[in-house]
Amino acid sequence: MKFSSSAPSSSNFYDIVIVGGGLVGNAMACSIGLNETLKSQKVLLLESGKPKSLGTPPNEYSNRVSAISPASIRLFKKLGIWDRLKQYRTSSVTDLYVLDSCSRSRIRFERLNSNEEIAYIVENDAIISSLYDVIRERCGNVTIRAGSSMKNCVLTAGLTDLVSLTLADESSIETSLIIGADGQKSKVREEMGVEYTGWNYEQMGLVATLRINTDSANTIAWQRFTPFGPIALLPLSQEYSSLVWTTTVEDAKRLLALPPDQFVDELNHYL
Ligand SMILES: Cc1cc2nc3c(=O)[nH]c(=O)nc-3n(C[C@H](O)[C@H](O)[C@H](O)COP(=O)(O)OP(=O)(O)OC[C@H]3O[C@@H](n4cnc5c(N)ncnc54)[C@H](O)[C@@H]3O)c2cc1C
Repeated sequence: MKFSSSAPSSSNFYDIVIVGGGLVGNAMACSIGLNETLKSQKVLLLESGKPKSLGTPPNEYSNRVSAISPASIRLFKKLGIWDRLKQYRTSSVTDLYVLDSCSRSRIRFERLNSNEEIAYIVENDAIISSLYDVIRERCGNVTIRAGSSMKNCVLTAGLTDLVSLTLADESSIETSLIIGADGQKSKVREEMGVEYTGWNYEQMGLVATLRINTDSANTIAWQRFTPFGPIALLPLSQEYSSLVWTTTVEDAKRLLALPPDQFVDELNHYL
């Protein structure tokens, strides 16, 4: 990390620019904003979408959720969002079962500490919104520019030169440090020319919220490996679980076209 001691004073200069306000970019902006040593740094968080406040939970669950591990919960506590999320809605996972589809064998993951859950299931939107709220309330040195996309950036080889960014509205920004948190198809990574290896698994992940019927407490996360890919079922409440069904592209398209009853029948076949 490099900070210039005689930073340019123009209004389009920021010490740090974070491109992307998803889970990673927001957590980074919040961490920097709350850090006493970095309070003097002028930070910009650029996000092409429209951020919301946490508010009250809607009746329906979002179908994008994450399993949050104890280590991430410790970070969330430091960032001041854990109590907010607990008040909003989270669901604890007491056990994780991993099964295959051709035997009765299963692996059971238990808690490491009796006072720590394996994970909590939390809606991604809730995590992002609560981070935005903390940034707005407590991070005076962080500016959020929402609905604003980075079109391209020019990176420099030397540590003393500034990085310049052009936004979609053709305005420009300069910074000493750019942080790429712009997701899977990161433009920042593209400009950096980072070499990476990737391949197409020819698979799709189908996400849904399921109303489930169980007599026991719904606190177990299930993952069943089928010949086409894993099916994960994550508890959201006593009544609902979140589904991530990974399968071949062809099969996913077929499943999506099924009437709800048939979809549930096929799912029950594997569970
Ligand atoms: C089905 C599924 C289930 C998952 N479950 C889990 C889980 O249980 N636990 C877990 O830890 N992880 C899970 N993951 C992975 C996790 O969701 C990702 O790792 C995480 O969302 C990545 O966050 P990110 O902030 O890097 O990127 P993203 O969430 O993709 O955010 C990138 C942000 O950058 C913005 N952006 C992009 N380009 C620009 C631009 N040019 N200018 C401005 N803004 C831009 C986008 O609008 C977006 O908001 C799951 C993923 C999937 C698909």
